Parts: sequence; C-alpha cells; structure tokens
Amino acid sequence: MNKLFRLRRHLKLYQALEILKTISTSKFVPNKLKAIKQLVCYRHEMDVDNIFLDIGDVCNSKCLFCSTGIKNRNGCSSEERGSFMNFEFFKQVWTHLKEVGFIHTPKDQRISLYNWGEPLLHPEFERIIDYLTQEKRKIVLSTNGIYLPKFSANVNASSIRFIRFTMCGFSQASYDKIFMADFEQCKRNIATLVKNLRAHHGYIGGFGLIFCVYQFNTHEIQAAAEFARSLHIDFWPVWAYQVDGKRGMQFLKGELPTEYLSKMFQYLFYGGHKRGPVNTCHFAQLCINPRGGVHRCCMFRESMGSIFDMTPDSWKALCDSYPFCTECKAAGFPRLLCEDDDEFDLRALKYYL
Ligand code: SF4
Ligand code: SF4
Repeated sequence: MNKLFRLRRHLKLYQALEILKTISTSKFVPNKLKAIKQLVCYRHEMDVDNIFLDIGDVCNSKCLFCSTGIKNRNGCSSEERGSFMNFEFFKQVWTHLKEVGFIHTPKDQRISLYNWGEPLLHPEFERIIDYLTQEKRKIVLSTNGIYLPKFSANVNASSIRFIRFTMCGFSQASYDKIFMADFEQCKRNIATLVKNLRAHHGYIGGFGLIFCVYQFNTHEIQAAAEFARSLHIDFWPVWAYQVDGKRGMQFLKGELPTEYLSKMFQYLFYGGHKRGPVNTCHFAQLCINPRGGVHRCCMFRESMGSIFDMTPDSWKALCDSYPFCTECKAAGFPRLLCEDDDEFDLRALKYYL
C-alpha cells in the first residue's frame, strides 16, 4: 500500500512538472530547477521510513489546533503539561528498538525527535544528539523557533539531517492568533540557528521553512518565501489543519463547542474540502511518547501499550486490527488533513518560483 501512495505522489509530482513546463521563458530556468528540487525534497521527506520518538511533549507555543497548544492556552497543571524523556530512559527505549528490529539500516530510516512538543526545549538535547551521532543515525527536527538553544562548542550536529521551522504567518498579528509568541524574536532565532549550525557544529543537513497557510495569512506567503530565500533554506507552504485527532473527530461528528468551531471555519480552509470515508491512511507510523507509550499515528494521543512489550510483528498485528483506525477512516478524518489535498501542492508551486 505504501508503494501505491508513493506512486500517487509521484504522479502528483509529474503533474507539477507538467505545469512547470508551461511556465515559459528561459530566464526562469534556474528558478524552475530550484522549484523542482524543493518539491522533490518535500516529497522525499514525506515518504521515507520514519519513527517519531517524541523526546518531550512540552511546548512553549499555544497553537489553537494542537492539543498541546490548547493545554498551554488553558493554563494546565504541571502534570498535564507533559514531560521530557530523560536520557537514561531514552537509551533504554533506543536499545529496545534496536534489539527487536524497529531500528534498522541508518540509510533508509529517519528518527524524528518530536511529535507533541518542542524538541529544542529538552534539557538533555545535546546528549541525545551526540548519542545518535555516535549511532550514525539520521535525525529530523521540527521547531517553532520560539526558543533559541545555546549549543556548546563541541556538539556534533552531523546526525541532524533536516530541521523544519514552522511559522504560523509572517506578522505579529498572525503570531498573536496562533503561536502567541514574539514574531520578530522567532525570525531572529531561526536566522541565528541556521547560521550557528552551519558555521560551528558540522551541520550537513537541510532546512525547510514550513509556512502554515491560514485564511488570514495568505498575503504574507511571499514575504515568508523571501525570508527563506535570504537564509538559503527551502520554503514549503502547507495548509494549516487540525493536528489534534480527538478534536478532528469531534468536528466530523458535530460535537465541537460552537466557539471553537467558528475559529476553525474562520482560520482554516475547510470550506471546499473533500469529505467522506477513506480506505487508506498514510499517517500510520510508529510514534513513541516520552513515557514509552506507543501511538498509532502522530494525530492521536491514545496509547496502544508500552514499546517494551512490542516487536515490529506484534505492532503490525495490533495496527491491522486496531478498531480506532477503522472508526477514524470511516469518519474520514485522514481527509481532513489538508496535506492530502490534490490541488494544493500545485497551487503552492508559484511560491517556489
Ligand atoms: S503544533 Fe507544535 S508548536 Fe504548536 S503547540 Fe503543538 S507541539 Fe507546540
Ligand atoms: S486512520 Fe486515523 S488513527 Fe489510523 S493512522 Fe490514520 S489518522 Fe491515525
């Protein structure tokens, strides 16, 4: 099934190339090549074998469409705020993953050190990076840029193969709506992190700026693209969507409180979105929370059990019969995730050019 998805994705890429061909005049050729490179890179990032190993479900942002962000908005207690995976426990999890075969050849596999939190806040972040560098692993990070970590001079960041910077717009007004953070500070942090990693820490990976497209920030896309260009990093505008599976399901069942629902319609692009059940879902990936609990995918917080009780075969068997996925697909939740919008990548292409 994975292969089918890949084929479908390549077909979309093929469509995109057709569109690029129609953009005439030779002076745009370098831009076209760059656009193709970025799109291929984006697609590749989405397709590789990936394990989400969440080193901390603690975040400093207050995103309206994420359960961590909502908890932060509601001023949750310290227990509810989440926790970090301490280094010793991280090593136990890692050793188990290797022993039972979840972790295999570094060439084909990425380890994403995030899911429901901001990984750069982890107090032992450097130790984890150093450890995975020794293990010759390929790490992916996603950060909101609100916090700028101070790496010691001897940190070797060569295992980090990609860092995604997420932006919720390109103005303080947009940041007030979603992250509730200082926009200019985030810009400075992103620029500094890119510069420092490239200059001092053996960083050989890529960077991408993920611009979350909301109804209120479409006019800011070009400015964000310019910012990315000035740092020589990739730029990917993607639809913002409801990343909180629980609320996504409530939305589909008509169970969301009116106030929240009206924000969804005001901010997200749900108007022309396809609805209805789906047969497949490409969000299914191994996700491990900071306490060693396993999730079916990065969207839902329900734990399927402890990673220490699972092998790849038992995990697969559990997934195949997991009733929640059947319910989720019948409700059409995977369709709510706008990344699956056939048209969007093509429309977004103009921002790569
Ligand atoms: S979406 Fe990411 S940045 Fe925003 S609150 Fe959730 S974990 Fe934090
Ligand atoms: S069907 Fe739903 S629960 Fe299952 S992997 Fe996809 S999004 Fe997650």
